[in-house]
Amino acid sequence: MPITALSYLHDTYQSEQVAQVLEIAQDEEGTYLVVNQSIFYPQGGGQPSDAGVLIFAVGPVTAATSPAEFPQSARLEVQSVRFKEGQVRLYGPWDPEWEGQWVLQQIDLATRLAHARLHTAGHLIHAVMTELDPSLQAQKGYHFPQGPYVEFAGVPNLEPDALMAQLNAALQAAIQAALPIKSEFVTLEELHARKAMIPAAFPEGKPLRVVQIGHYQPVPCGGTHLASTAELGTLQIRKIKSKAGTTKISY
Ligand SMILES: [Zn+2]
Repeated sequence: MPITALSYLHDTYQSEQVAQVLEIAQDEEGTYLVVNQSIFYPQGGGQPSDAGVLIFAVGPVTAATSPAEFPQSARLEVQSVRFKEGQVRLYGPWDPEWEGQWVLQQIDLATRLAHARLHTAGHLIHAVMTELDPSLQAQKGYHFPQGPYVEFAGVPNLEPDALMAQLNAALQAAIQAALPIKSEFVTLEELHARKAMIPAAFPEGKPLRVVQIGHYQPVPCGGTHLASTAELGTLQIRKIKSKAGTTKISY
């Protein structure tokens, strides 16, 4: 079974890339297409899929054809994107005869950057919150446009109003400081050596990558991130709610 190289891990700001269709098949979610390299982010890790189109070629294309030279014909919308068994599966109305063809992948960059912004905001809230109150342990992130939040195990030492004020001030300071956000592929040994956060489990079939905001603790993550906290613009905590030993911070 062919697997997909995860191009989206290398550049959040890349919106198009030529790829080859390796397989067209069906699973319980519908007809999918597998490309040799994907700039589409598959839904996962609390982050939605990228939106975009696949453009099929009318003329000859090789691996060296640039996006600008691509001979465009049919332009079809990708309906959803999932990661299964080492493959990025792009779901849509594909014809099995298109196997082996070259396509131009184009993602909607505005949607990509909106998702990257929400996801990066989740990382910053986690980082700042953990520094304000190390007793809290992050356990879940939800970075969809409707009602994003970061959830922690534990109840904060501070009252919610005081915590909200401190958290918002610290987030503003981090955004003003334009902290660089860097990601790097690492081994498990390097992850431990850097005192990174170690999750209970790692996603199967994906390379191990670590992301670090400024001086904060590195976190393993395969999502798409902005290059600097300055790009977050404004970020406000909307609500802090503790219930049954967990604390949900909505933004
Ligand atoms: Zn991330």
